[in-house]
Amino acid sequence: MKTSPIIVEEIRRLSQEEGLKDSEIAKIIQYNRVSVQKIRKNNNIPSYNINVRKDKKEICPNCKKEYYIRRNEKPGICCPECELKLNGE
Ligand SMILES: [Zn+2]
Repeated sequence: MKTSPIIVEEIRRLSQEEGLKDSEIAKIIQYNRVSVQKIRKNNNIPSYNINVRKDKKEICPNCKKEYYIRRNEKPGICCPECELKLNGE
């Protein structure tokens, strides 16, 4: 069975732009992990891009909440939620 191009593109986006692992992608698109891995291999999508993975922990100086940013990203002045509030005022 041929995989829908929409699914292939979604797997490509989630693994390469969001840095998600096969198991995490599987949960989002409701496939099993092995299928995601197979689709990835069949479409020459490399394994997840670790540099864009949002797993660098930062603590917001404003609300003290923990939030995650990409490894190759510099932390902002506060968490995205506070930033929204600041911009909204
Ligand atoms: Zn905050």
